[in-house]
Amino acid sequence: MEISNNFLSKSKPQIPHFLILPWLAPGHLIPATDIARLLAEHNASVTILTTPVNSARIKPTIDRFNAASAGDISLVSLNFPATEFGLPEGCENVDLVPSMSLVYNFYNATKLFGQQVDRYIHEQVPHVSCIIGGMGYVWVPDMARKLGVPCFIFHGFGSFALYCWEILHKTKAHEIPDSDAELFNIPGLPFEFKIARKELPMHFQQSSKEIAEEMRNSEVTVDGILVNSFEQLEPGYAGLLQKISGKQVFTIGPVSLCNTTRLDMEERGNKSTVDSDRCIEWLNSKKSNSVVYVCFGSTGNFAPKQFKELGLGLLSSPWPSVWVINGIEKLPDETLIWLRENFEEKNSSKILLIKGWAPQIAILSHPAVGGFVTHCGWNSTLESVAAGVPIVAWPLYAEQFLNVKLIVDVLKIGVSVGVGEAMAWRGENEEDVRVKKEDVVRAIEKLMNGKEERRRVAELKEKAKLALEKGGSSFLNLENLIQFVAPTI
Ligand code: UDP
Repeated sequence: MEISNNFLSKSKPQIPHFLILPWLAPGHLIPATDIARLLAEHNASVTILTTPVNSARIKPTIDRFNAASAGDISLVSLNFPATEFGLPEGCENVDLVPSMSLVYNFYNATKLFGQQVDRYIHEQVPHVSCIIGGMGYVWVPDMARKLGVPCFIFHGFGSFALYCWEILHKTKAHEIPDSDAELFNIPGLPFEFKIARKELPMHFQQSSKEIAEEMRNSEVTVDGILVNSFEQLEPGYAGLLQKISGKQVFTIGPVSLCNTTRLDMEERGNKSTVDSDRCIEWLNSKKSNSVVYVCFGSTGNFAPKQFKELGLGLLSSPWPSVWVINGIEKLPDETLIWLRENFEEKNSSKILLIKGWAPQIAILSHPAVGGFVTHCGWNSTLESVAAGVPIVAWPLYAEQFLNVKLIVDVLKIGVSVGVGEAMAWRGENEEDVRVKKEDVVRAIEKLMNGKEERRRVAELKEKAKLALEKGGSSFLNLENLIQFVAPTI
């Protein structure tokens, strides 16, 4: 067990103490770190409890924050029982799980981890005012109940997706179609939204019924929902979510905006695999709004055939691009040679390859970047909005198809690449080719030549900034959240 900062001395009852237990995935750990910083900026004391591998990823950010602001964030790590569940040593994050067949082992390991956390909290922690737990941690609400403190869930989704999520859980509209491919309407929305079951998160698939039920039984017992979003982005949806779920809902984002220094933007959630100076220099050599940034989040991998279609599309497109390649170690030698010959020996001034972790928000905020080809993970979506960059929407799985509806049809800040079915996890299906080279070229061209998407997202960028400034909607919601837990102190 490793403890940093002053965790054990957090017994000052007049200051609310939030215990954050982020689900073990980058898309949760990263915003959870930002949430911790925002709460600390609002004078709360915060502890993040995670595992050694995850702790190492966020420690530099936390240390910088505490040093610069005399902040009060502690980082505690407890060992994760990976090998007990047949996982490789150090497999402590979803992005380290080697294959889909081991995802359930990982999920079960998090339950044993929960027992350790429970013991630790009871034995070692003098005072907690509120627990914020990640969606996959089904044991958190029970733990909060035993402590007698409020429990908030953080799904990592936006308000619109969460509202659809609640509608589906309540109406079971997704169970009506006979096949996974048949379109059905999500009822209760102010517009028609036809979607197929195969485009929904795994929680609505027959194959994941058991885990989905366990998660649902847990989430309905929480006191509130924390959403990384802002009212002006998804007007009315937080209210609708509050009404349908019967829970307190606080939208407190975009939380990524707390990263204002160059180091915080470049070193976020993991160590970047590209030399930042080289990356910025490359971007500096390009015209304003001319570069397309291509990244599919922390687990978005493709099998070689789909991978090549994307690469060929980027080569054929007239715009330069920064292409982030996640999971390069899974690509066969033949694809690696193709990559070297076509992108490194040739075309390196047109396409900058980043093999591994990219400093995403630093890239998105560079003035040369004018479009983002993204899987529409909610963090990436919000980060694009916060940077004023319009989107080419290429959803893979999870709640991403719900986000696409918001991006393309509701907010009209992006264009669709035209995918109608979820991909196999991390490119595990060799034959999965959903998007052809021509589709990539067409979608990028439409986005980069379009003016309206850019204008709308620029307006939202300003609103995002205002939301977190003093008196803004997210700023006030952070205050309200602290007030909400304060009576229990
Ligand atoms: N990210 C990053 N560099 C990368 C890949 C991802 O910084 O090379 C960050 C990205 O900025 C975002 C998070 O990882 O904050 C990914 O979250 P998102 O919800 O977009 O997708 P997920 O990984 O959960 O599918």
